Amino acid sequence: MYDMVHRMGKAELAALIARNQNAPDPALLREAALFRDRHYGRRVILRGLVEFSSHCRMDCYYCGLRKSNRRIRRYRLDADQILNCVRDGYRRGLRSFVLQGGEDAYYQGERMVLLVARIKGEMPDAAITLSLGELPADLFRALKEAGADRYLLRHETADDAHFARLHPPGQTLSSRKRCLYRLRELGYQVGAGFMVGSPGQTHEILAEDLLFLRELQPHMVGIGPFLPQSQTPFARETPGSLSLTLTMLALTRVLLPSVLLPATTALGTLAQDGRGLGLAAGANVLMPNLTPIGQRGGYLLYDGKIGIDDGTEEGLQQMLQSIRAAGYEPDLSRGDHQDFRQETTPYYL
Ligand code: SAH
Ligand code: SF4
Repeated sequence: MYDMVHRMGKAELAALIARNQNAPDPALLREAALFRDRHYGRRVILRGLVEFSSHCRMDCYYCGLRKSNRRIRRYRLDADQILNCVRDGYRRGLRSFVLQGGEDAYYQGERMVLLVARIKGEMPDAAITLSLGELPADLFRALKEAGADRYLLRHETADDAHFARLHPPGQTLSSRKRCLYRLRELGYQVGAGFMVGSPGQTHEILAEDLLFLRELQPHMVGIGPFLPQSQTPFARETPGSLSLTLTMLALTRVLLPSVLLPATTALGTLAQDGRGLGLAAGANVLMPNLTPIGQRGGYLLYDGKIGIDDGTEEGLQQMLQSIRAAGYEPDLSRGDHQDFRQETTPYYL
């Protein structure tokens, strides 16, 4: 019934979002879960997350890592430390890894190319997702050639004026979009996405986000609530709502039935069992944190971030248990999008 979202225009989508803002329609959640089950069964894909640097040259108003925040303790893992985090995850059975960081010039070049090649050389059956911001086309290409499989770059909002409300002059939506299309052309599995409830966001803007997803047809979509961070200009803004985030997750699943859709850490931070509710709304990916415990406090995109012990041997076992307890099956494979699935790699272990 909700597959009408494929044909709806902006005003209709905005009205649909408004109707579901306080509580997602149970029929919408059912349909989203059904679509997920049809493409992925009850499997929940795990991707080990390594937050390799909290240095950032950008100045997004919402984010604790923005360059104008002089009060955080910055850290940067060296290549061996990053490799060790991935090895730890690999030893625990994970085959999908995300290297994410601020826009740190130190890693926005040859160093990252070499690191990707090293990881791939040592663990050729692991998938690597990168998330280090907007890069020049030739660097995207070099990283792909070194073996990177996927790239996450949330568009944050598909409305130009709203983008300008969230970012300083010089950061533009058109540049984001250009990167996303380029990544697609280069053969990456591409992830876009946005925050729910960022300051100034309206239902029309969220409708625009869905229209952009419909146009881009990304393989992954990252959606989480906006959460204020006390050292940013948005410190006093209200966090995004749980129900609206679940609604946007479910609508995204219906719109892109085979998309890889994480139940994000931000969602888990917003509400007790937020990630479980995300799975019930059609999400199918969880991202245990593999960052060394000592550095985690330094990667504060927003206040109150959870996940202090996940990704450790014990934390990972707990995550597997809670996935099973909720009626799903953990999937430790590469976790490719169906358009990229390789016959030679078992995708369920
Ligand atoms: N620098 C890279 C990756 C790290 S930020 C990039 O920007 O792409 C990863 C994501 O964290 C961002 O895309 C943003 O959507 C999210 N984020 C940042 N600050 C946030 C906040 N205050 N609340 C919720 N999500 C936030
Ligand atoms: Fe930097 Fe990403 Fe935070 Fe923007 S969202 S300030 S690019 S880490």
